[in-house]
Amino acid sequence: MAKMFSKEEFIKSVEDNLKLLYRKDVESASTQQLYQAVSYSVKEMIIEKWMSSQNEFEKQGAKMVYYMSMEFLVGRALGNNLINLGCYKEIAEALDEIGVDLNLLEDEEPDPALGNGGLGRLAACFLDSLTTLGYRAYGCGIRYHYGMFKQKIDDGFQKEVPDNWLKDGYPFELKRPEHAKEVRFGGYVNYVLKQDGTYDYIHEGYQSVKAVPYDIPIIGYKNNVVNTLRIWDAEPINEFQLESFDAGDYKKALEQDNLAKTITEVLYPKDDHMAGKELRLKQQYFFISASVQRAVEAFKLGNDNIMEFPKYVCFQLNDTHPTIAIAELMRVLMDDEMLEWDDAWEITSHTCAYTNHTIMSEALEKWPIELFSRLLPRVYQIIEEINRRFQAQIEAKYPGDTKKVEKMGIIYDGQVRMANLAIACGFSVNGVARLHTEILKKQELKDFYEMFPEKFSNKTNGITQRRFLCHANPLLADWITDKIGDEWITNLSELSKLKLYTEDEKALNEFMTIKFKNKQRLAKYVLEHNGVEIDPHSIFDIQVKRLHEYKRQLLNILHIMYLYNRIKERPDIDFYPRTFIFGAKAAAGYHIAKLTIKLINTVADIINNDASIHGKLKVVFIEDYRVSNAELLFAAADVSEQISTASKEASGTGNMKFMLNGAITIGTMDGANVEIVEEVGDDNAVIFGLSAQEVIEYENHGGYDPVEIFNSDPDIRKVLMQLINGFYNPGDTELFRDIYNSLLNTKSSSRADTYFILKDFKSYANAQEKIEEFYRDKNRWAKAALLNTACSGKFSSDRTIEEYVKDIWKLEKANF
Ligand SMILES: *Cc1c(COP(=O)(O)O)cnc(C)c1O
Repeated sequence: MAKMFSKEEFIKSVEDNLKLLYRKDVESASTQQLYQAVSYSVKEMIIEKWMSSQNEFEKQGAKMVYYMSMEFLVGRALGNNLINLGCYKEIAEALDEIGVDLNLLEDEEPDPALGNGGLGRLAACFLDSLTTLGYRAYGCGIRYHYGMFKQKIDDGFQKEVPDNWLKDGYPFELKRPEHAKEVRFGGYVNYVLKQDGTYDYIHEGYQSVKAVPYDIPIIGYKNNVVNTLRIWDAEPINEFQLESFDAGDYKKALEQDNLAKTITEVLYPKDDHMAGKELRLKQQYFFISASVQRAVEAFKLGNDNIMEFPKYVCFQLNDTHPTIAIAELMRVLMDDEMLEWDDAWEITSHTCAYTNHTIMSEALEKWPIELFSRLLPRVYQIIEEINRRFQAQIEAKYPGDTKKVEKMGIIYDGQVRMANLAIACGFSVNGVARLHTEILKKQELKDFYEMFPEKFSNKTNGITQRRFLCHANPLLADWITDKIGDEWITNLSELSKLKLYTEDEKALNEFMTIKFKNKQRLAKYVLEHNGVEIDPHSIFDIQVKRLHEYKRQLLNILHIMYLYNRIKERPDIDFYPRTFIFGAKAAAGYHIAKLTIKLINTVADIINNDASIHGKLKVVFIEDYRVSNAELLFAAADVSEQISTASKEASGTGNMKFMLNGAITIGTMDGANVEIVEEVGDDNAVIFGLSAQEVIEYENHGGYDPVEIFNSDPDIRKVLMQLINGFYNPGDTELFRDIYNSLLNTKSSSRADTYFILKDFKSYANAQEKIEEFYRDKNRWAKAALLNTACSGKFSSDRTIEEYVKDIWKLEKANF
C-alpha cells in the first residue's frame, strides 16, 4: 500500500470523488462512475510523486530524451498504474470490502488505442521502462479524438466503427493550456535584408492552429519516479472576432477553425503503409513543431547557452513519421533563436536520432515537393539547403558517381525522402533486431552505411514484463515470485533461475496447471464473445497481430483447410485436438487483408459446425484485437505463430510476449525470432521456411513459380481449388477469387505469391506436425514451455532501454 493512503482513506477518497463528480454514493453509482471515481483517487496517489519527480529531475539538471512518436498504444491505465504503484492487491481488497470488483472497473476503461500495432506498443513499453529505470523522459505524441477503429465482425466481414475513447472523459490526463504553442501552415516566406547584408526570413500569409498539450503520467515500478506522456490536441488560435465583419477575416477564421477540428481528429489506420495524404503531413508537423518549440523553451529555462542543447536533450524519432523534427529544430534555432546555420546544424545533428522499423518499400515516407513546399514553405526551404549541402558532401566523397546522389539524396525525383533526411542529419540510426539491422547495413541502407558506418547500431526491441506478465498473467507472476523472488519484475534476466525447475515434476505440473487456468479464462471469453465452445485441453495455437500479407495469416488458414481435408478424408486418423485462434485488424482500404478475415471466418463457420469431426478442430476469430484482450491471449497460448516471410518482419514484439508467457514459437527465421531461438535453443522452438537471404535471392531474380507447386502437390491444389469451387462458400464461388489469384496469377499482381506462401507451405505443415508430436509428450512440452519463460530475459524493454541509454541517449539515472 502506498504510504500516504490507508484502505480507509482510499475508500473515503473514492466516496468523495463519487459525490463531487456525480452526486452519487457507492450503491447508486454505475460501474463507469465507479471506474472514474477510483481512477481519480489513484490520480491523487500519483500527483505528488509526479510533481516531486519533475522538481528533482530539474534540480539535478538531468539530461532527457524526448521519444517522438505518432503512436503510443498505451493500453488501459488503471490496473497497470496500481501495479507500478505497488498496491494492486491492497486496492482490490479495499474495493472488495465495499462490494466493488476491481476487474469489472478495469473493463470499464476505454483502451486508448492511439496506435496501430507494434510500433505504438513499443513506444508505450519504452516509457514504462525508462521510468522504471529512473531516466528522465518525455513521450511526445498526438491526442487523436478517434484512435484505432473498433472492429466489428458482421457476417464474417470486418466493419470499422469509430472509437470515441474520450466520450466519458479520460481521468488520467491533465490539460496544460499554459504550455500551448502556435503551429503554422501554408503561406510564403518573405526576405528582409538586414544591415549586415544577411537576410531575415519571415513567414507570412499562413494559417495557424493552437497546439494544446495534455499530460498523462507514466509511473515507474515502485520507485516514486513519474514521467510524462504529452499528447497534443488542436484548438482554433483565436475565437471568432465578432467585431470583425471583414469577409476575408471571416473566411480565414472559419478555415483556421476547420483546420483545428480536423488535424487531431483521427489516427491513420494503416500499418506499414504510406498513403501520402496531406492531413497526415499536417499531423506530423503539428505535434513535432509544438514539441520542438516546447523543448527549446524548457531548455532555456535552466540554461542560457543554447549550444549545450545536445548535452541535455536527445530527440529519438520513432520511424520517419517525426523526422520533420530535424528541419523544425533548425527553423526554431535560426528564426526564433537567431543562430547562424552552422551553429544550428551543430546542435541539430547532435540531437536527433532515428529508429528504422521496416524495409518494406510501401512504408517508405516520400512527400511530393509540391505538397510539402505548399504546406510548409519555410521548413521546405531549410530541407532544400540541407540537401544542397549533403549532395555536395556526397559528391566530394564519390566524385562523378551520380548513382550515389540518386540513392542518398534527400530531395530527388520530385520528392522529399524522409528516411534520407533522418540518416543524413541524425547522429544515430538503429534497426530493431539483429537480422533487421544487418539487412539495413548490407542491402537497404548500404550506401548510407558505407558513408556513415559510425552512425549505425542495433537495438533489439523488447516488451515490459510489468504489463505482459504482472498484469496479464497474475497466476504465473505469483508462481515465479514464489520460486525465485520478485527481482525479475525489474531485472528480467533473473528468470533464468527458473531453469532449475525443468527437472522438477511438481513445479512443471504447477506451471502447466497455470497455463490450463489461463486457457479456461480465454475459453470463457471466447464463449461470451464468439458463442463458440473451445476445449482448454486442446492445443491453443494463436496468431494475433495486424493483418498484413507479409505476416501470412493466409498461410495459417490455408494450412487449417489442409488439416480439415485430412481429417475428413481419414476420420479415424489420430489427431490431437487443436484450437486455432486469430485476432487482427486490417486497414480499411486493404482489400486482400479484409478478404483474408472473411476467409478465416468462413472456414471457422464450416469447421466449428461440422459434427463429424468431433470437435478435433476449432477456429476462432477474436473480434477487435487490442491491448486489453491481447493480455488474455498471450497468457493462454500454447503455440505462438510468428510466420512472416523471412526478411519482412523487422523485429516483432508479439513473439516476445508469447515467449514470456511460456508459449512455444512456430516461426520463420525472421526479425527477433532469430534471437528467441538463440536464447531458448532450437529444440524448444519449431522453425521452418525460407531464410531471409533465400527470399532476397528470389526477389532479386523476379520471384519463383508457384504454379509448379500447384501442379505437383495435390494437397495444396485441393486447398486452393476450395477457394474458388464453393466448398466453403457455395453461394458465391467468386468471393475468394482475388486470394486465389494473388497466389497463382502473375497477371493480377506484379508477381504471383509475393510472400512465398506456397513455397513455404510444406515446410510449415511439417513444422505443425512436429508441434503435434511435441505436445503429445506432456513432460517434454512442459519443460520447453517453462524454458521459454526462463530464457525470455533478454526481451525485456528494460534491456533495450539500457542499450539506447548507453549507446545513444547517454542519460543518467535519477537518484531520488
Ligand atoms: C504487441 C502487440 C502488437 C505487435 O504484434 P506483432 O506480432 O509484433 O506484430 C500489435 N498489437 C497489439 C495490441 C500488441 O499488444
